[in-house]
Amino acid sequence: MSVNDKDTQDGPAEQVANRTEDGKRGPVKVIMLGESSVGKTCLVKRLLTRSFVDNTDVTYGAAYAPYTFRVGEEDVKMGIWDTAGSERFRSFISTYFRQAKAAVVCYSLDDLATFEKVRYWIEIVRQHEESCAMYICGTKADLVTTRNPAVVTSEMVESIALELTAAGIYETSSKTGKNVELLFQMIGEDFIKRAKQTDYVKDETESIQLTENGAAPTPDEKTEVKQKCC
Ligand code: GDP
Ligand code: MG
Repeated sequence: MSVNDKDTQDGPAEQVANRTEDGKRGPVKVIMLGESSVGKTCLVKRLLTRSFVDNTDVTYGAAYAPYTFRVGEEDVKMGIWDTAGSERFRSFISTYFRQAKAAVVCYSLDDLATFEKVRYWIEIVRQHEESCAMYICGTKADLVTTRNPAVVTSEMVESIALELTAAGIYETSSKTGKNVELLFQMIGEDFIKRAKQTDYVKDETESIQLTENGAAPTPDEKTEVKQKCC
């Protein structure tokens, strides 16, 4: 799907509420970010096809992929936006940040320069969508061996994750499948936790509406509050 397509910002059937029309949790809008060639497209393809699809096509603008899975008792509907990391797409990538619930900020474990851009990606998302949860993802873990150690150490990642209050740190490989499903599963679980908190707060505020002097309203006053609202 090209960036110029109409109605692309949130994916089909995107809603602000925490449930879709068919009762599933979500939609959870997830954006894949990071420098070109870190393996974003392969990561999404691995998740969807459970195999390594060697992706030779460059992503233009952004591509949308729906993904539904189960977390505990609930079905979670995710809309994954795989974006292009190259400079020429930077100016309009930010249009995809709106209402994103999570960002998977990728760097390649064997490429320090891509890790040095993690801060840039996190900060730019936060400028547009402050509450978006950030997951830092070191890709191509299969390239890391004892003879060929990662150029990005876990201390470096933990330090930036702490500083920028990331929601999680993962090391994945689209070649072997390492941690790929786990990453998206955790994003789904975190989303449900937050959504349940929102439901809880909503229920609480609906059941206890305080009057102007701070006391719980009498049944008559409740009617009055309702009338004032509507
Ligand atoms: P994107 O530009 O971030 O979307 O990167 P791509 O997904 O297109 O991948 C860029 C290159 O990295 C391709 O040549 C892939 O074959 C390679 N690649 C992607 N993921 C992995 C991985 O997990 N392991 C290895 N060894 N190579 C990978
Ligand atoms: Mg790509």
